[in-house]
Amino acid sequence: MFCNQEYDVVVIGAGPGGCVVARNLARAGHKVLLLEKREKIGIPVRCGEASTKLSDLQTYGPIDEDCIETIINGLYIYGPNGVNIDLAQKGTGIMLNREKFDPWLAHLAENDGAEVVTKARAEFVGEVEKGCRHVRVKLGDGAGDTTEEIRAKMVVAADGVESRIGRQVGLDCVQKPGITCTGVDIQVQGILTRPDYLTFWQGHDFINDGYIWSFPKIKSNVTNFGAGFRISSKNNRNILDITMEWLYKLFPEARINHVVGGVIPVSSILKEYTLDHFALVGDAAHHTNPLTGGGIASAMRAGRFCAQTVHEGLECGNLSKEFLKTYEKRCYDYFGRWHDFECKFGRFLHHMDKSEQTELYRVLQNFAKHNCKKSSFLKTPVLSAKMFYKFWRFKG
Ligand SMILES: Cc1cc2nc3c(=O)[nH]c(=O)nc-3n(C[C@H](O)[C@H](O)[C@H](O)COP(=O)(O)OP(=O)(O)OC[C@H]3O[C@@H](n4cnc5c(N)ncnc54)[C@H](O)[C@@H]3O)c2cc1C
Repeated sequence: MFCNQEYDVVVIGAGPGGCVVARNLARAGHKVLLLEKREKIGIPVRCGEASTKLSDLQTYGPIDEDCIETIINGLYIYGPNGVNIDLAQKGTGIMLNREKFDPWLAHLAENDGAEVVTKARAEFVGEVEKGCRHVRVKLGDGAGDTTEEIRAKMVVAADGVESRIGRQVGLDCVQKPGITCTGVDIQVQGILTRPDYLTFWQGHDFINDGYIWSFPKIKSNVTNFGAGFRISSKNNRNILDITMEWLYKLFPEARINHVVGGVIPVSSILKEYTLDHFALVGDAAHHTNPLTGGGIASAMRAGRFCAQTVHEGLECGNLSKEFLKTYEKRCYDYFGRWHDFECKFGRFLHHMDKSEQTELYRVLQNFAKHNCKKSSFLKTPVLSAKMFYKFWRFKG
């Protein structure tokens, strides 16, 4: 079934992270196999499809126009006590169509020489033997399934939030209460909120330990309306009921097309996600932004760093865990440190009572009003100083 029995790199999972790894390594001349368990790459979409980090999404040039639904020119946040934030920024993000975007990324990988196989579920990754790992793959989707064994000098698991493979090889990538978010995305017919803005509702008047979103997809004339909050061991609330409640409270006329749900890692980046001849990428490595839950851009950026490090390792014949730490460091320096900050900020925000939170929103509102210039904090000196001090003291 596969073209070869042995590859330089086997990439498990054809989401944004896996596709970028596969493409970049194939482009560098390595023999790459990209495995995807689903029949159709990108379907079903379990995502709000918004991204603000364009430079991370554009790996080798512009994104195909067909994959872009909307150009985003700002963010609007409904905060506690009517303190709302309007952050106008031309071209600050895009709304993707992931049914088109993920397959497009996989095609790019294929065009650059990667072998892409769908209905191919990696079931087991073995220990390193003679410089390679075995990968057991189940092919097909029911009757007539076959199992194949292949070997690879390097295995990259970009197998998403559950990362069965990551757990199977012994990495601690399990989603735990308190550092995991559950989200529901409802596709609603028509455009609900300002068409070129991402709109959010957050804080004690709405969903405090998470937020509600409304993301417009102009070309398709639909809105991704959703909500997500942290799962705590005590939290028994049903996120689907809550999202539905908010949808009809805010938009009583809403007409639903379909509903999807999923889990989002919000722990900030894992401390360790490489082994000898093995690495995790994207949601599997908790690369997701812990404040916003956005993970497309960071998965793709991490994919680039992973490919760069694996390429260097293949060139010098060293794919040891120690060598692959360079990949972890590249990710940490680029977005991990910032994610740690946002993780603390998120906990700080959720921890506050309503009046403190309103004060914080006032400071942020003023910051946004003055084009995010640091000097804007001098316009509310007492409040800003109080918030900085509280944040600095906050251990969370
Ligand atoms: C409700 C919700 C809303 C979200 N909204 C946003 C948003 O608006 N913006 C944003 O940036 N992020 C959002 N995210 C997060 C975003 O979807 C993920 O961060 C992103 O998809 C991560 O990419 P990835 O490549 O790491 O993994 P994935 O996109 O999950 O891809 C993993 C792939 O691996 C495949 N796979 C899994 N196991 C195997 C196996 N054993 N063998 C072969 N293939 C396998 C899967 O089928 C899948 O195709 C949202 C998530 C949820 C749940």
